[in-house]
Amino acid sequence: MATEDSKSNGHASAVTSALSGGNSSSPAAGKRVTRSEAHKSKEVLAPKSEHYEFGGPLGCLFVSTAVPLTSYGLFYFCNGEAGCAVPPENWRASLDLMLEGVVKSCFDWKAWAIYFGWYAFTVLAWAVLPGPWVEGTELRTGVKLKYKINAFSTMVLSLFLTALLIAFKGPESFTLLYDHWEGLVTASLFNSVAQAIYCYAVSFQEDRLLAKAANTGNFIHDWFLGRELNPRIGTFDIKYFNELRPGLILWVLLDISCACAQYAKEGQITDSMFLILLFQGAYVFDGLWNEPAILTTMDITTDGFGFMLSVGDLTWVPFTYTLQARFLVFHPVYLGIAGTLAIFAFNGLGYYIFRVANGEKNQFRSGNNPKNLKYMTTSSGRKLITSGWWGRSRHPNYMGDLIMGLAWSLPCGFSTPIPYFYIIYFTVLLVHRQIRDDDACRLKYGDDWDKYCEKVPWKIIPGVY
Ligand code: NDP
Repeated sequence: MATEDSKSNGHASAVTSALSGGNSSSPAAGKRVTRSEAHKSKEVLAPKSEHYEFGGPLGCLFVSTAVPLTSYGLFYFCNGEAGCAVPPENWRASLDLMLEGVVKSCFDWKAWAIYFGWYAFTVLAWAVLPGPWVEGTELRTGVKLKYKINAFSTMVLSLFLTALLIAFKGPESFTLLYDHWEGLVTASLFNSVAQAIYCYAVSFQEDRLLAKAANTGNFIHDWFLGRELNPRIGTFDIKYFNELRPGLILWVLLDISCACAQYAKEGQITDSMFLILLFQGAYVFDGLWNEPAILTTMDITTDGFGFMLSVGDLTWVPFTYTLQARFLVFHPVYLGIAGTLAIFAFNGLGYYIFRVANGEKNQFRSGNNPKNLKYMTTSSGRKLITSGWWGRSRHPNYMGDLIMGLAWSLPCGFSTPIPYFYIIYFTVLLVHRQIRDDDACRLKYGDDWDKYCEKVPWKIIPGVY
C-alpha cells in the first residue's frame, strides 16, 4: 500500500442514509465548518480567483465541446466500416453517420438502462461493501475529510459478476457494451453534464469550500473547473467517488466486452488483445488497490468538481481509453512471442517507475520515510523530497505513466496512427498538468520552490524535458 493514512472505523450505514442531503456532522463526513465560522472566514472558504486557467472561458468552452466530439468522433471515424485512416477515407459519410448516430443514441433506452444501472450499482457497492474510512489531507479550513475505501472490492465484485455471466451465457452475451457504444457515451455525457450543473449550483451555498482557481465569477470557466472543492451529499463525496469507480471499472468492462466481440467475430482472442486487457486491467487494479493514494493527488487536493473532472471521469476515460481494444475487434493484430514479450517488458518498466515514484511520495506525505530519502524543508514547514525518483525529475510518476501509455498503443501495430491517440493526448495532458502543478507549487512554496527546481531541474523525463 502506498499510504499509511489513519483508518477510522466509521461505516456507511445504507444508501438512504449515505445519500441523505445536508451537511452531516458524523465522524465519517469529517468536521465541517459551521455557518457562523464559514461566514467569518469567507476569504478562506471562497477566495476570489485572480486569473483564468485553461486559456480562460474560451479555452474551457473549447475543451467542453472537444471532449464529447472526440469521444463520438473516435467511434465514428475509426470502426470496421469507416476504417481508421488518416485522413479519413470518406469523412463526409462518417460525419453524416455521426450526426445521425448521436441523435439516435439519445433514444437507445437499453444503453441508458445499462449505463444508469451500472452507475447505481457502483453507488450501492460503495454504500454496502465494507471498507475503512481514511482521512484526506488537511484542507485550508484545517479540516480533514474522511473517505470510504472500497473501490477495489467494487471492482472485484463487478468482475466476478461479469465472469459468471460469460461463463454461463458465453462471450457473446457480454458484447452488449460493445454493441451499445454510442448510447453508452450519450448516457455518460448526460450524467457528466447533470453532475457538473448540480455541483455548480450547490457551490453557492454559504458554507462551501471553493477551489482556489474556480471562483472568477465567469460561469463557463468556473462551471468547467468546478467551484466546490469537495462537493458531498452526506458522507458521499461526489468527486472522490467518480474519480475511481464508475469510469475506471467501466473502462475494464468495456475492454472485456471488446475481447468478447473479437472472440465472437474471430473465434479467438489475439495476443495483442490479451496484452491490452492485462496492461489496462492491471493499471486499474493498481489504482483501486492503492485507493487512498488518490487523496494526495491534485484532483482531490486542488481542483474543484466541475465538467472537467465529471466528463473526464465518466466519459473520456472509459470511452476513449478503450480505443485500442475496440480497434483490435475489427483490426486483429498478431504479435507473436517476441513482439508480445518486448511490449510486456516495456510496459513493466513504465509500471515500475510509476508505482515506485508514487509510493515514495505517498509514504513521505503520510509521515513515513522508510528509504531515508533526502528532503528540503520549506518555510511553510512542509517538506519536499530531493532524492530517489523525486530527485531525478519533478514528476517521475508522469514519466512512468507515459511509458505505459505508449506500451498500450504498440499492440495495435503501425497500420494507422489513430490507436496512438492515447499517448499523444496523454503527453499533452501531463505536460499541461505539470505546468499547472509547477505554478501551484510556486504559489504554495514561493522561493523555496525555485530552490527545489534548481536541485531537481528536469520536469518529467531526466535529460529530455
Ligand atoms: P502528483 O502525484 O505528482 O502530485 C503533485 C503534488 O505532489 C504537488 O502539488 C505537491 O503537492 C507534491 N509534490 C511535488 N513535488 C514533491 C516532492 N519533491 N516531494 C513531495 N511532494 C511533492 O500529481 P498528479 O496528482 O497530477 O498525479 C498523480 C498520478 O496520477 C500520476 O502518476 C499521474 O501520472 C497519474 N494521472 C493519470 C491520469 C490518467 O488519465 N491516467 C491523469 C492524471 C494523472 P504538496 O506539496 O502539496 O503535497
